[in-house]
Amino acid sequence: MKKGVHVWLVGAGPGDPGLLTLKAARVLGAADVVVHDHLVAPEILARLPRRAERIYAGKQRGRHTMTQDEINRLLVRLARRGKRVVRLKGGDPFIFGRGGEEALALARAGIAFEVVPGITAASGVAAAVGIPLTHRDLAQACVLVTGSRRKGAPDLDWQGLARPGQTIVVYMGLAGLERVSRELMAHGLSPRTPAAIIQQGTTAGQRVVAGTLAGLPRLAAAARLRAPTLIVIGRVVRLRREFVRFMPSPPANPAPARAPGIAPRVR
Ligand code: SAH
Repeated sequence: MKKGVHVWLVGAGPGDPGLLTLKAARVLGAADVVVHDHLVAPEILARLPRRAERIYAGKQRGRHTMTQDEINRLLVRLARRGKRVVRLKGGDPFIFGRGGEEALALARAGIAFEVVPGITAASGVAAAVGIPLTHRDLAQACVLVTGSRRKGAPDLDWQGLARPGQTIVVYMGLAGLERVSRELMAHGLSPRTPAAIIQQGTTAGQRVVAGTLAGLPRLAAAARLRAPTLIVIGRVVRLRREFVRFMPSPPANPAPARAPGIAPRVR
């Protein structure tokens, strides 16, 4: 660990502890305090060193334990006490995880930090369920958007999203799925565009509901999905149909307790 660094902003990946990076595992193994959110899988928390203090700073839809400001202040306070602080977040810390705000708060408080990238849900979950986000015959671009809008924030650029040859991945999109589907169709995307919603990707709770852009809201409602869910829209989604019978679902080894070889094991 770098000298002088007090805080590590660490991505835990999409859920499967096997998708934690070796670097993340190493940093976690040396932590004094781990401040984590609700997206971090229990299997990963179970591997934290016993002596590490854990602080839950979860923020679920409508249920906030701490405000972002309080989390920022907590990180600064712990770092000033000389603790090795790990801020552990689902996926990648800088993709829709507000890690950028935490980094800003640390920088402004003059605290040295390091960012440990994680596998973000878009790449991790899509790949795990057999959706090649940028198969070159079907997509030349992939755009990541949030389905949950901050009050007063500008609306999504629906016209830009409806562009052909582009895969759209919507984070935090379940509650707004109906609107996403309606707007994209209103801006020119075919109602028959393949679309899927994935619940708890890469974990034992993984479920995939696939259909068309027009039909997905109804299918998703009928399936009574549980958070977190990721929405993927675009022609690449169709490929999954060809792959699926060759792929395990839910993932065969979502949480290998002690995989041979390089599996990271946090002590
Ligand atoms: N920093 C995280 C994203 C945080 S926003 C990352 O890089 O992945 C939270 C959203 O991420 C959820 O609402 C959901 O849309 C998505 N998400 C995270 N993990 C997921 C998983 N295992 N399966 C499906 N969606 C997931």
